[in-house]
Amino acid sequence: MTERIIDKTAAALAEDIREGRLTSVEVTRAFLDRIAAVDGEIKAFTTVDAEGALAQAAEVDAKLKAGEELSPLAGVPIAVKDLFVTKGLRTTASSKMLEEWIPPYDGTIVERVRAAGLPILGKTNLDEFAMGSSTEYSAFGATKNPWDTDRIPGGSGGGSSAAVAAKMAPLALGTDTGGSIRQPGAVTGTFGGKPTYGSNSRYGVIAFSSSLDTPGPVTRTVLDGALLNEVISGHDPKDSTSIPQDVRPVADAAREGSGGDLSGVTLGVVKEFAEGSAQGAEPGVIEAYQAGVEQLVKLGATVKEISAPHFAYALPTYYLIAPSEASSNLARYDSVRYGLRVGDDGDNSLEQVMSKTREAGFGPEVKRRIILGTYALSAGYIDQFYGQAQKVRTLIKRDFEAAFAEVDALVSPTTPFIAFPFGSRTADPYQMYLSDLYTIPSNLYGGPAVSVPAGLSEGMPVGLQVMGPVMRDEVCYRVAAALESTQSPILAETAPEAEEA
Ligand code: GLN
Repeated sequence: MTERIIDKTAAALAEDIREGRLTSVEVTRAFLDRIAAVDGEIKAFTTVDAEGALAQAAEVDAKLKAGEELSPLAGVPIAVKDLFVTKGLRTTASSKMLEEWIPPYDGTIVERVRAAGLPILGKTNLDEFAMGSSTEYSAFGATKNPWDTDRIPGGSGGGSSAAVAAKMAPLALGTDTGGSIRQPGAVTGTFGGKPTYGSNSRYGVIAFSSSLDTPGPVTRTVLDGALLNEVISGHDPKDSTSIPQDVRPVADAAREGSGGDLSGVTLGVVKEFAEGSAQGAEPGVIEAYQAGVEQLVKLGATVKEISAPHFAYALPTYYLIAPSEASSNLARYDSVRYGLRVGDDGDNSLEQVMSKTREAGFGPEVKRRIILGTYALSAGYIDQFYGQAQKVRTLIKRDFEAAFAEVDALVSPTTPFIAFPFGSRTADPYQMYLSDLYTIPSNLYGGPAVSVPAGLSEGMPVGLQVMGPVMRDEVCYRVAAALESTQSPILAETAPEAEEA
């Protein structure tokens, strides 16, 4: 069978476009056709912008024809998580609160994506305001996992990863607060990269937990992820937490890694990740992960056990800090400034309108977080809960700093379990929260971490996570690309279930 446009990597498509074998319009149309054929089933998109995407593609084609020098990914279309603010294109955060919101501006990353000539195919589904691990908390219904449509695609960014896994987009944008790029990547057999906090701008990304939120790439290959990260990263004066420093080139690191030589690289395995059977990973996940580690050793890496004594507190710490910051960030949805307004009929006071709006506009998980966060921040309790969590966050940071004095990077399974069936973890929030057991630490210490496909368990994808020291994103890309080079490309081999109608 000849390779279809939708089977190609973003890097290959960019080359085809650059060298005149394909036009951006042809490529964009192929993905739009694929969306039309399979997204009725998968439901990865909240909004598809065929007209806008084709117009952007035509613009890139004209520029290329005129001999203009464009970015390395010019002409390759992209799907954007519906948490990124897009000018003139509906932005919902998958919440009823913003169901009709058409933003008047582009966020920095979207601006960079447009400037680099990447046509935007549409916006992808997520758990409401990025709170969740399955997309089941989207106000518009869940996205399905293309590998098995009875199972979740991960979350919060399940729409972006499902779009990439089902070949509806060669590239996508995600955001990772506690794992929302990496966990969906792991369970859909795609690559997900969470960069160093502050290296990718949060300006124009709807805020969940400001000290943790990190936008990043969702792709099929490590190199595609690296190329996309280079398009979007770098200092942004509009984000006060943006690091005023150049990001190290990750695409070169990915190319180097794909050569398959890891000699001289020391990888750490966190002892505490494997301890505690209640929180332990599924045997099939452990098996795939260990096979991945063996491959890394064959490529020349040395593996060493290290200890992160405060790891057990990472999950509770996150679930105090993230809801606290969320409760403050979500106060802006007050019926006055943005979006939904309910009960404004002259019979209700302003306070009643606010209350009715928030009652109607937010779903159950968002309400749970607001209540938790408001309590943790309330007078009399703030020191006991939020303050205490911040102290523990510092201890966790120190654990990881100490680890990175001994090793170049850490490896772990990305998530303790494969994609679970719909409805199996919504009854008990804690069961859902466990999805991010291994991904949360890097959000707390602020370092880079990526998830790369590492085989299958029960026929479903497993992800291996590589965590690096702050501002050393290139280490993660190098190790991930090395592992990728040992794997048969699982997306090509085991075609996702989504068949064209
Ligand atoms: N699943 C985690 C949560 O619910 C992480 C979400 C995210 O990274 N946006 O908070």
